[in-house]
Amino acid sequence: MQDARFTPRVFSGIKPSGGLTLGNYLGAIKRFVQMQGGGFETIYCVVDLHAITVWQDPKELRSATREVAAGFLASGIDPEKSILFNQSQVSQHAELAWIFNCVARLGWMNRMTQFKEKAGKNAEAQSLGLYAYPSLMAADILLYHATHVPVGEDQKQHVELTRDIAAKFNHDYKVDFFPMAEPVIEGPAMRVMNLRDGTKKMSKSGESDMERINMTDDADTIARKFQKARTDAAPLPESVEGLDGRPEARNLVEIYAALADITPAEVLARYPGAGWGTFKPALADLAVERLSPISGEMARMMADPAEIDRILARGAERARAIAQPVLSRTLDIVGMVRG
Ligand code: ATP
Ligand code: MG
Repeated sequence: MQDARFTPRVFSGIKPSGGLTLGNYLGAIKRFVQMQGGGFETIYCVVDLHAITVWQDPKELRSATREVAAGFLASGIDPEKSILFNQSQVSQHAELAWIFNCVARLGWMNRMTQFKEKAGKNAEAQSLGLYAYPSLMAADILLYHATHVPVGEDQKQHVELTRDIAAKFNHDYKVDFFPMAEPVIEGPAMRVMNLRDGTKKMSKSGESDMERINMTDDADTIARKFQKARTDAAPLPESVEGLDGRPEARNLVEIYAALADITPAEVLARYPGAGWGTFKPALADLAVERLSPISGEMARMMADPAEIDRILARGAERARAIAQPVLSRTLDIVGMVRG
């Protein structure tokens, strides 16, 4: 349900922690484009401050930041219609995050499944930033008083934490200042799974390149990766209930559905009882058809990084114009003396 006191505004971000994947495209970017011009003000961010919660080589970080921006633009984000920028150029994100570090409770952070998954068995060796990440994410969203946050299923818990932070801030300071942001998670493929292990999500920072489809993969690579994707031996079922207990089969059917803009049931009706020898090449063809215009445009843009940098700088300027008044008001509420 929408928070009616606030103008509808969308915020979302993607980390430049590697190249974009099909998971990022279907779970996030596709919806970013749909929401643009749909009665929302749309703000999209390359969240470089989040990326450095795990080690990033500086040169690669710079290149990945431009590549993620190019992915947004090539997919249809229009820098005139949306505000597109990289997080570190708007220092208000980090400032508000500090305030939120003092609002969020340790107990809340300890429940975050992403930290547990990313930290693995070696939590002691992780950065403090990785642990505090959800508080920075809350700042990203609330700095713009965003009401809607399109994300993949894996980020739902962080958007819920954002609501908890907003509610506690409003309650503690007896104000009605921050909105309750809604996660927008609709349709199939909101959690695209790893192609080699259907119990893990596809991630740009995953270990093996074979487990993900990169948005910049060429047609042969996409075909090979789907060909080698792990599945069970049974053919496609007649109905979606038949996908229960078959995570890899469900994943490939959902990817097809999301790429074709149809439902999983319609996919099964299109390929009744098909074997993988039929379905995987059809899926690869569809993915190539959808991704190759985008990757072609990304390559063209990456040849002119100065133009990408100009777009990000201009977006940052527009973002700051919204962010600074919200931060100033927050500091006033908290009781900071300002000249
Ligand atoms: P990392 O491995 O560094 O965390 P990532 O691939 O998970 O990278 P993020 O930058 O963390 O990408 O997330 C960007 C957006 O993409 C978020 O909205 C997230 O929910 C979405 N997303 C990430 N992976 C998937 C996936 N496998 N399926 C659907 N959506 C995804
Ligand atoms: Mg992630």
